[in-house]
Amino acid sequence: MRLFNTLAREKEEFVPLEPGRVRIYACGPTVYNLFHIGNARAFVTFDTLRRFLEYRGYQVDFVQNFTDIDDRMIQRARDEGITVAELAERNIAEYYVDADGLNVRRPTVQPRATETIDEIVALIATLVERGYAYETSDGVYFDVAKDPDYGKLSHHNLEDLKTGASERGDLGEEKRNPMDFAVWKKKKEGEPSWPSPWGDGRPGWHIECSAMIHKTLGDTIDIHCGGQDLVFPHHENEIAQSECATGKPFVRYWVHNGFITVDDEKMSKSLGNFFTVRDVAKRFPYPVIRFFLLSAHYRMPINYNYDMMVAAQNGLQRIRNCVDNLAFVTAAGGTSRDTDSPGALQLAEAGKVARDRFVEALEDDLNSADALAAVFDLVRAANTAAAADDAVSSEALRGAADRIQELCEVLGIDLTPDREEIPTEITRMVEERTAAKKARDFALADRLRDQVKEQGFVIEDTQQGPKVSRV
Ligand SMILES: [Zn+2]
Repeated sequence: MRLFNTLAREKEEFVPLEPGRVRIYACGPTVYNLFHIGNARAFVTFDTLRRFLEYRGYQVDFVQNFTDIDDRMIQRARDEGITVAELAERNIAEYYVDADGLNVRRPTVQPRATETIDEIVALIATLVERGYAYETSDGVYFDVAKDPDYGKLSHHNLEDLKTGASERGDLGEEKRNPMDFAVWKKKKEGEPSWPSPWGDGRPGWHIECSAMIHKTLGDTIDIHCGGQDLVFPHHENEIAQSECATGKPFVRYWVHNGFITVDDEKMSKSLGNFFTVRDVAKRFPYPVIRFFLLSAHYRMPINYNYDMMVAAQNGLQRIRNCVDNLAFVTAAGGTSRDTDSPGALQLAEAGKVARDRFVEALEDDLNSADALAAVFDLVRAANTAAAADDAVSSEALRGAADRIQELCEVLGIDLTPDREEIPTEITRMVEERTAAKKARDFALADRLRDQVKEQGFVIEDTQQGPKVSRV
C-alpha cells in the first residue's frame, strides 16, 4: 500500500515496523461538545484505513484518545455549573452515539488524558532533566530552540516562525522563545489540578498525545493520523517532545485528511454554517453521511451541501436495491441454470475484476472514491444479470451479492435498509391479488393493487412472484 506521508510530502510505500502488525494513533475529540462534520471526516477516514489494513491481513492496534481536560472544557463546565469530569462523561457518551451511528469501530484502546497523568508527568520530567524543557512561574515550557529538527513536519523554518510570532507579540515575559509551548500549566483558582514536581496543575494539550502514544503503543509507531489543521503546531510539537525525550523516531507515516467546506465556504461558527453530525443525522441517516464522506479522496477538500447529500443517499440506495433484489430473486427459488452458463461466468468475472480494482484503489493512498466506483461496476453487472431471463444461476447471483457486501463492509458502509417491515395487512392484500389474477379476475386484482398503493406500497410483478416495497 502507498500512503501520502506529510513528513516526506509524497506517497510512500507503507512498510510496518513489525511485519503483519500496524500501530496507529489518531487524535480524538476534545469532549466539550458534540463533534462536527469536519471531525467526522477524520473518524470515518481513519476507521476505513484500519478496516482496509485488517482486510489485507494485518493485525491493527488502533488507539484514539479523549482529550478530557483543557481551557474549553473548563469554560463550558463553568457555564453549565457542572464539573469538568461530568461534562466529559456526558460528551463521551454522546460521542459514541454519533460514532456508532457512523459505523466507526471502537478503537483497540481509548485512553483519556486525565487517566494518563502519571505518564505525562514522567515525560515532562525527562524533558526537564535533559534540558529540553524549563519551568516558569506559570508552567513548564518546551524549549524549541533545543530541537534542531523543529519544523520538519510542517516544513516551517524556526527563524521564520520566531519572526512571525514576535510580530504578533507572543513572547510571554518568561518564555525564552515565542514558539515555546506549555507542557504543564500551573493551577489557577477553581481549576481541576493534579500534583507534579512543579506544583499542582494540568497538562498542555500536545504532551497528552505524546504520553498516551508511548503508554499504549510504544516509542515508535507506524501511522499517526489527524486532520490537516493539526499538522502545526499540534503534531509538530508532539514530534519535538517525543523525539527529544526518547531519542528515537516517533512516527513513520503522518497521514492527514483535508477540510470540509459548506456550500463552498469554510465551515465556521461565525458564518453560521457549522454543522454537528447530530444536526445532519436529523435529515440524513448516518450511513448516508458516511457514504458522502467516502465519496471523495480523503486528502481532497469535500463540499457539504444538500445536493451532495441527496446524491450520496441515491448512491447508497442503488447499492442497497441491488443487494435487496439479488436476495429476493435467489430466495424466491431463483433460476434453475447451473453455475457455468456464460452469464454466470461473466458475473463471476465481473466480481473478481471489481474486487481487484477496489483493492488497487485503496492501496493507492486510500482512494475511497475509486473504490466506490468499482463497487458500482459490480452493481451494474449484477443488475443486468438479475434482469436477464433465467440466464444466471442463483449461486452466481448470491456470489455477486456476497462480493458487494464484502467490499462495502471494508468501507464500513452498512447495507441494511432503513425501511420498515411490510405490514401483514399489505401482505394479505398482495396474496389476495395473486389469487385474483390466477382466477383471471383482473378487475379485482387491479383494485387490490390500487388499494395497496393508497397505503404507500408498490407491487412489482417479477418472474419470481410479486415484490412489494414502500413507494
Ligand atoms: Zn493529538
